[in-house]
Amino acid sequence: PVRTRFAPSPTGYLHLGGARTALYSWAFARHFGGTFVLRIEDTDLERSTPEAVQAIIEGMEWLGLGHDEGPFYQMQRMDRYREVLAQMLAAGTAYQCYSSPEEVEAMRERMRAAGEKPRYDGTWRPEPGKTLPAIPAGRKPVLRFKNPLDGEVTWNDFVKGSITIGNKELDDLVIARPDGTPTYNFCVAIDDLDMEISHVLRGDDHVNNTPRQINILRAIGAPLPEYGHLPMILGSDGAKMSKRKDAVNVMDYPAQGYLPEAILNYLARLGWSHGDEEVFSMAQMIEWFDGSHLSNSAAQFNIEKLNWLNNHYIKQADNERLASLARPRMLDNGAEFDGAPALAVVLGLMKERTNTINELADASMLFFRTPQPDAALLAQHVTDAVKPALAQFAERCQTVEWNKAALAAMIKEVLAANGLKMPQMAMPLRLFLTGQLQTPAIDAVLEIFGRETVVARVAKFL
Ligand code: GLU
Repeated sequence: PVRTRFAPSPTGYLHLGGARTALYSWAFARHFGGTFVLRIEDTDLERSTPEAVQAIIEGMEWLGLGHDEGPFYQMQRMDRYREVLAQMLAAGTAYQCYSSPEEVEAMRERMRAAGEKPRYDGTWRPEPGKTLPAIPAGRKPVLRFKNPLDGEVTWNDFVKGSITIGNKELDDLVIARPDGTPTYNFCVAIDDLDMEISHVLRGDDHVNNTPRQINILRAIGAPLPEYGHLPMILGSDGAKMSKRKDAVNVMDYPAQGYLPEAILNYLARLGWSHGDEEVFSMAQMIEWFDGSHLSNSAAQFNIEKLNWLNNHYIKQADNERLASLARPRMLDNGAEFDGAPALAVVLGLMKERTNTINELADASMLFFRTPQPDAALLAQHVTDAVKPALAQFAERCQTVEWNKAALAAMIKEVLAANGLKMPQMAMPLRLFLTGQLQTPAIDAVLEIFGRETVVARVAKFL
């Protein structure tokens, strides 16, 4: 069965790259009817925080990337790691190394000087017929993995293709510190084994860890997962992504008015493709995401494309949902909802051209403020030539059927009767109703404000 995992280190928020890894792992598991596991890699005690765990889980929840198992915490698995360490020591696939950090550094220095790749020189590595040095008094050993000396590690990376690393390139990795705590690559290998992970999808900053993890798994006779390493996401300037240039924290996006389906669709396309499809639902992604067509080159973040998708999903979104998202910001900005048109209806009119919920909320404020038109603008647009027509308009508002078409027809008649053009009436009406000259089409605005408000506001200024 297919089992994937997302294994973040809780040292900060969920960033876009992590979210993409989570999305791909999730979609892959869903495609094959498998299981998606969440594992928190919290063994770096100095940098891991409970707040970061919360932030990551919150980000995944906002995106709707639900896990089936977990969260598992590495810190809660220490007994299991120690058990495997003891087994490996007993089996001779790991050994105690009493070289001090200074001695190891000196070894590396010597090798560097000799133009070799610096590595542990195997002083404490047991070999048949070899006598090990005397154990220095009072020194606690680290545990090293007995890496094969020859041969190579090859895996068929389902993003990058076949990758081969010679064992000569690999050190005898420290798998437990002097205090017995296990180290990073060891924990990951044991977790993937115990959690029966079939496919590991992760960032390609982990490519160098993979042969080490494979060797550890092989040494304990464990089956290997398949690996796929995703190239990183570059910032909008083509360099490494950083929060100074682009929003990298996933939770910045709801704050800026992005919908989760836009972020998901955007991340889905950032490193994966399905023909020419640009816009698709998660149901479609799940149907299509089988691990093929993953891109092997770094993707560049592009806010215009994200905005385009966000606009698309805003237009598709239920207006009541948009209202609940926009209302808090509008309240903060002093919106008066009492006696005003229904927010959902306004947003439905205003959403055509907005990229974000925040833009939509701000653009819609004109329906929820007491209009205070500028006196000079009133003088300019409410001329004596126009006033009689506005009065007739106000009169006919009492009885006209209140819908866009009927209102548009009525305005046309009033214009014709007075020999005026559309803007000559639309501009004053805009000022009366909203205090500003830029609004959507006047018939739509009138319809939304409703008879009572329109009559009252026109009367107030005429
Ligand atoms: N904890 C690692 C990270 O956050 C991921 C390890 C893995 O996926 O194997 O980069």
